[in-house]
Amino acid sequence: MGRTILHIGVDDTDSEYGMCTTYLAYMMVGMLRGEGATFLDLPRLVRLNPNIPWKTRGNGAVSLKVGTDDAPRLKERIADLVGEHAETARGANPGLVFLEGEDVPGDVARFADLALWRLIPRRDARRFAQRHNLESSTLGNGQGLVGSIAALGYRFGDATAELLSYRRSDRMGTRRRVLASSVRRMHDGIASTFNSYDSRRNRVLITPGGPDPVFYGIRGEDPESLLLAAEMVRADERPAGHLIFKTNQGTGDHLRNRLDLGDIRPYDSGTVSGEVAADPEVGPGGNVFFGVRAGAPVVRCAAYKKSGLAAAASRLAGGDRVIVGGGVRRGARGRPRTLNVEFVRVLGLARSTVPENPACPRCEKRMKSAGRGQGYRCRACGTREQSKVFREAPRRIGTDLYLPDAGSSRHLSRPRQREGRTNSVRFDDGIPWFSVYDNSGE
Ligand code: ATP
Repeated sequence: MGRTILHIGVDDTDSEYGMCTTYLAYMMVGMLRGEGATFLDLPRLVRLNPNIPWKTRGNGAVSLKVGTDDAPRLKERIADLVGEHAETARGANPGLVFLEGEDVPGDVARFADLALWRLIPRRDARRFAQRHNLESSTLGNGQGLVGSIAALGYRFGDATAELLSYRRSDRMGTRRRVLASSVRRMHDGIASTFNSYDSRRNRVLITPGGPDPVFYGIRGEDPESLLLAAEMVRADERPAGHLIFKTNQGTGDHLRNRLDLGDIRPYDSGTVSGEVAADPEVGPGGNVFFGVRAGAPVVRCAAYKKSGLAAAASRLAGGDRVIVGGGVRRGARGRPRTLNVEFVRVLGLARSTVPENPACPRCEKRMKSAGRGQGYRCRACGTREQSKVFREAPRRIGTDLYLPDAGSSRHLSRPRQREGRTNSVRFDDGIPWFSVYDNSGE
């Protein structure tokens, strides 16, 4: 049998009660290595449209690229792993896709592009798989097919990496305890990591909260510095092992496209650019609402207090020129369709003026009202003026980029430290990108 290059895409194997598709990938990597497969790239963790309603957490899907002498056997073993470990009984809807050959066809890459910002019905994914002869299987309602095709087809422009460390099974479901000061030291010491620690709120960001097998995830620019970073984290448990992924996290890729104001659909992600239609309104709970007008339609935007963006949004004014990135929330009775703001870039500020009594041209004192409809009069010298003057008011916002707090940003959101950066993540099979720790001495 000749050597076959096999792409494997998988998604939707977890539920809110357990599992994680990345953990299934960790199990798959161990199995594939045991079967003599060679890895041709790092495992890929592709985050898809963060605004679709049925994601469990971060809408992540996974793909692998391996070389094998026995593709049929590997496919069977992979399908068995998915069948055995996916949380199908508790609501997961797994999808699994195989594709053979060095390159992934352009159409599959375009499908992935769309899955980054739009909602794709599973019927469309099924048709797509048939039309392109993708070898696919699904369980549950099969929604996972969308993510599994997209993970396999995604083409990285910019890329980052994440080291995910997994818990031993006896620890799953218990509280994760990592020493916050060690994470802070790591965050401050290794500049190429990001979103590990929220210094403003003193919060550790690498540990999830749920019952899933992930102990922590460290995000950064390259696998080598992630391995160094992981050594700095102090915790009261020793994880079972780790896996490093190449990812599109921190790339802002879901907000690359400009939304067409005439054709905005619920759950779309993207940007709108135009003029702030009127001064923002502050709603209950401190959430801020404003419209953006580009031509005729006005898009209603919401900056939520808990995202940390409301303060900046409240300082916008009608006429400011902005680009706003975010996800479209479906309208309901009494609530129009809204773009939930993920960033605001202020391009230009409108002039803001406040009316005030004129100053006396002789003694430079501010004049007083001379009575209703009588204009203004200087108390010192009696000089009169008819009308108020308008003074330029200082704006409390600048032409700048406004981002949410690190703890509220999406996996895909581009953090400030990655502004303008395009990275490629090299695959070096010589470093321990996959590791199962020896815990036998404990
Ligand atoms: P985790 O991050 O822990 O893996 P998750 O947040 O990725 O969980 P999933 O359980 O994978 O959540 O559910 C996401 C579901 O949404 C999957 O079925 C996936 O195929 C589907 N999906 C992803 N992107 C889109 C899209 N653009 N349109 C429609 N469905 C999508």
